[in-house]
Amino acid sequence: MRNRDECEALDRADPLAALRGEFRLNEGEVYLDGNSLGPVCEPAAARVREVLDREWSTQLVRGWNQGWMDQPLRLGERLAPLIGARSHEVLVADTLTVLLAKLIGGALELRPERHVVLTDAANFHSDLYIVRAMAERAGRPVSVKAIERSRLAEHLDDDVALVMLTHVDFRTGEMLDLDGVTRAVHDAGALMLWDFAHSAGAVPLDVEGADVDFAAGCGYKYLNGGPGAPAFCYVRERWQGVLRNPLPGWLGHARPFAFEPDYESAQGMRAFVTSSPSIVALAALDGALSVWERAPMDLVRAKSLALTDLFIELVEGRLPGVFEVVTPREHARRGSQVALRHPDAYGVVRAVGEAGVVGDFREPDVARFGFTPLYLRYVDVFDAVERLAHVIESGAHRDERFAARAAVT
Ligand SMILES: *Cc1c(COP(=O)(O)O)cnc(C)c1O
Repeated sequence: MRNRDECEALDRADPLAALRGEFRLNEGEVYLDGNSLGPVCEPAAARVREVLDREWSTQLVRGWNQGWMDQPLRLGERLAPLIGARSHEVLVADTLTVLLAKLIGGALELRPERHVVLTDAANFHSDLYIVRAMAERAGRPVSVKAIERSRLAEHLDDDVALVMLTHVDFRTGEMLDLDGVTRAVHDAGALMLWDFAHSAGAVPLDVEGADVDFAAGCGYKYLNGGPGAPAFCYVRERWQGVLRNPLPGWLGHARPFAFEPDYESAQGMRAFVTSSPSIVALAALDGALSVWERAPMDLVRAKSLALTDLFIELVEGRLPGVFEVVTPREHARRGSQVALRHPDAYGVVRAVGEAGVVGDFREPDVARFGFTPLYLRYVDVFDAVERLAHVIESGAHRDERFAARAAVT
């Protein structure tokens, strides 16, 4: 088991170490929740100030003609390398659930003779709600089958129109095989929609190589775009001009300022714009994305695996038999988080939170810790496990204050 000195040595050799200085982190705290909400980085703060002080303050409404209107596409270009997309295949807008609605609604029109959507029964609840709602509104009978994801192949028949899966499971951190699953779905004649909420900025992605049809993800998790940051969607070039946006609005019109009563879709990714872009929120994400230009994804991935390996090694060495490590040990099946199962997982998360280690709890019994290589050090992992061990050994997690759950866990 590694000691603190060895962790410090790993930090000295870390090629990403300098990026930590770009982030605002609370002194003495180990933040293992960047998979839920990334922290403020200086370029994000600077870009927001610039938009407030130099654009909105003086340009006022003229700002729309001085670059604001193109922000959703420009940020899409900036984000595209993180998912292996081409620059004209990504749009930044709305929120993830809303973008999923657009992609699902559009995709169901492309396979009119098919009547089934497959998704994972363990998917994030918002994904399940929106896929069922869109299926009900498809204009033909479409049923959503929420299946066990490991049994996908058994369900892939010629009535499946669309498969929607989350690439890295939000609860367990298990990562699916992007290439293999997409290929199997295409072999069955269906379309593939991936949710990258826990993948973008967490693991290397190659949507072009994997021949993905559609994808969407969050801006506020690993990408550090700020609370409620706009999300992104990917539509492969071959579907642009074919896939219809089921939520049309004026800014996705070919000529928004002609104020025409009938809708005619804009070309390219602009077709998926509905409303006015949130310029201040986009500014934060824009700044945050600039940090990724200094963070090669292969280095980020190598460090993410090293951090999660270290965490697992220390938890099992320091606290043998206390937790069940739910996250796969196999690197090829692991995202950038570690989920620990414990009967008092909620109390563990709250107690360790009071000891300065921020993680989160996911029903029914999972303590979840996210590892974000841009600002986490190996010593942070060491210190986090020491504090966790102290909580378990002192029984602090069983305090009655943790019997009732807070509104946001
Ligand atoms: C975080 C998350 C969401 C929620 O996204 P919103 O932008 O709040 O709609 C949806 N799906 C998954 C898998 C998530 O992890």
